[in-house]
Amino acid sequence: MSKKKVAESVLALLQRQQPHNSKFTSTDGTLLEAVVPSVQSVRKQSKQKVQESQAEVIVATDVVPIEVQNQPLPVVANAPLKTEVAKQQEWQKAPTLDILYSHIHTCMNCSLGATRLRFVFGVGSPNAKLLVIGEAPGEEEDKQGEPFVGRAGQLLTKMLEAINFTREEIYIANILKCRPPKNRRPTSEEVVECEPYLWKQIELLQPVVILALGLTAAETLFKEKLTMKDVRGKERTYKNIPTIITYHPAALLRNPEWKKPAWEDIQLVMRTYNSLIEKTNPEWKKTIKQ
Ligand code: SF4
Repeated sequence: MSKKKVAESVLALLQRQQPHNSKFTSTDGTLLEAVVPSVQSVRKQSKQKVQESQAEVIVATDVVPIEVQNQPLPVVANAPLKTEVAKQQEWQKAPTLDILYSHIHTCMNCSLGATRLRFVFGVGSPNAKLLVIGEAPGEEEDKQGEPFVGRAGQLLTKMLEAINFTREEIYIANILKCRPPKNRRPTSEEVVECEPYLWKQIELLQPVVILALGLTAAETLFKEKLTMKDVRGKERTYKNIPTIITYHPAALLRNPEWKKPAWEDIQLVMRTYNSLIEKTNPEWKKTIKQ
């Protein structure tokens, strides 16, 4: 059908619908021809946008079958279903760690959900001022549903006890909540899916200091290639929180010679924590255990 004929038939439709609208009184279709391209562009936008323009709603409703009916509606790749969005919003709004857990402990957002034995949310005090972050659950953590158990976890507990922190007063979490098979490094897809849960935990905890364990955890948090030599022994900032990076306790079990620098890092954690807590709660300050 010629452009002129399309315009004429559309004009006739509009005149029938709005006989008193002077915009549609042209008989040669000139005005309408000017309208048709805008209809097409509106049609390419969302349905909601169409509804925002009264004139174009009329045109879109009636004209589309003639000129644009074969054009598919725009599809947003991987657009989440409405229910998924609602679910995400629920966990994002969680006011406590317990409620956050209740929303996410059945998560299947990545393939690790299908292979995990237990979901490893995190453990410790909801009032913790020190947050310890590891990479992902290992075999023992997967079995027990708790981070940093087993030999590496026992070593971490000892290191923290040496500066008078108990496991009960700190909080320990991993970037991934489910175990990667054979303890492989987390993939970027898994991190994209799971890291927001950690961000929410940080938001709820509001720790004054973070201790990141291992290079993989550090690189995942900071989104950059790092070397332990360059990052340990220093204070960095993650989400505006002073963060100290040191060796993963499992690496210390394999490389006892790294225990000395790791101990220096733990003391740096203590000093950083003390300097921040001193003004508000000086009685919470820590000392090296005698
Ligand atoms: S690793 Fe994280 S994103 Fe993947 S299934 Fe487990 S909780 Fe969900």
